[in-house]
Amino acid sequence: MNTPKILKITGLEKTYSSGNKQLTVLQNISFDVDRGQTFSIVGPSGSGKTTLLGLCAGLDEPSAGQIELCGQDLSTLNEDQRAQLRNKEVGFIFQNFQLLPTLTALENVSVPLELQGAKDAEKRSMVLLEKVGLADRSHHYPSQLSGGEQQRVALARAFANQPSILFADEPTGNLDEDTGEKVIKLLFDLNKEAGTTLIIISHDLELANRTQQILRLKGGQILTNQRTSVLQS
Ligand code: ADP
Repeated sequence: MNTPKILKITGLEKTYSSGNKQLTVLQNISFDVDRGQTFSIVGPSGSGKTTLLGLCAGLDEPSAGQIELCGQDLSTLNEDQRAQLRNKEVGFIFQNFQLLPTLTALENVSVPLELQGAKDAEKRSMVLLEKVGLADRSHHYPSQLSGGEQQRVALARAFANQPSILFADEPTGNLDEDTGEKVIKLLFDLNKEAGTTLIIISHDLELANRTQQILRLKGGQILTNQRTSVLQS
């Protein structure tokens, strides 16, 4: 039986133009990700990881190739439909947290939910903040929280719409080792408990080795795409 794919990338290419110069930053990229898998994309700075993430999530247009996310060919969707797909299925975590500074921790989680029409947004957000161990910080603003606390708020926000796929771009990049470990544990717990597909972008091979599959990029091309020895579920 074929495992259902949550992400299918075929012949992807991305070229940026500036004046009469062309810069190809991704070339000949094809891979797929099983639903529920933990998957990492690694490579040196400038190898195209963040560009690839933006394309996979439909935030940017490829120059060539096809992207199928949650069974939908992104090229057939308009911007509103892509945004709807993201709101429903996709979570994001970034290295620099990207919390809104004028909202409290609770509001950072609940406001996006309210905007999507959730009725019990505040209650659900409190449950999520409890899950990441921040119930007692719910009324603090981002500037009153440590880096690790801010990243845990970002996790709660990313979990809020119960995404089927979560993209984490260098999620521990700005955190010390212990705090980073806590954040990673929360991510892997989410994968185990809710079956959320996890795509972690990192230059940290140790972290990548804890996922089930590693895609290595170099100079915008795939160097290797290998299963790891992590037990496959
Ligand atoms: P990584 O995440 O692996 O560090 P990026 O995807 O950020 O790599 O960048 C890959 C390459 O694409 C880099 O050479 C970068 O300068 C270039 N790049 C990224 N975004 C743009 C853009 N908007 N315009 C032109 N070049 C870009």
